[in-house]
Amino acid sequence: MYLTKIYKNSSCIDGEGIFAGEPISKGTIVFYYSSNDVYVSKKEFQSLSNFEKNRIYKLGVEEEDGNWIVTEGDANHSCDANILSLFVDGLYCDIAVKDIQSGEEITIDYGLFYSSFPWEMTCRCHSCNCRGIFGSAIAIDSQTQELWHSRISEAAGRIHHVRQPLFFRDDDSARALTFALRSRHSPRIFPYIKFSLISAYP
Ligand SMILES: [Zn+2]
Repeated sequence: MYLTKIYKNSSCIDGEGIFAGEPISKGTIVFYYSSNDVYVSKKEFQSLSNFEKNRIYKLGVEEEDGNWIVTEGDANHSCDANILSLFVDGLYCDIAVKDIQSGEEITIDYGLFYSSFPWEMTCRCHSCNCRGIFGSAIAIDSQTQELWHSRISEAAGRIHHVRQPLFFRDDDSARALTFALRSRHSPRIFPYIKFSLISAYP
């Protein structure tokens, strides 16, 4: 679930997007998976209709063991995204890698996500570093990986210097993520395949 105020509106990138309902500082954890998000096991997923599968492809994140986590909000893709994903001691979250103004569209890089099926889309993000096409079937060049890693590292260095709504959430997953982050006051960030990690084992 999103930790900051957001709203849905029509997007000049694609269809409907998610927009910031308040200013969000770089380094803010913007999203985590809470118990309100829906978990679909690999077995359940395989028994779904194609319509339902397509909905989950769009809204979900696939774990490497084939299980899915599905959330309501769906940020559009941008090659110059203002939030990016990382794992903190194995817990997934999205972090703001830029200061985001109120009313600005929140975007993420879909190229980060693991997928067991090959898909690709033409990009309409209009950013200067647009890759033109993105998807799980497209290899990520080293320049893009370095960009993700440097942006996540810089944002992670600010985690304890900005207001973190996460730290005030009262559910098991928020508490686990808060504990993991609070125990890393000088986080070392490790790039790992596509994702970056703040590791428990530096
Ligand atoms: Zn693009």
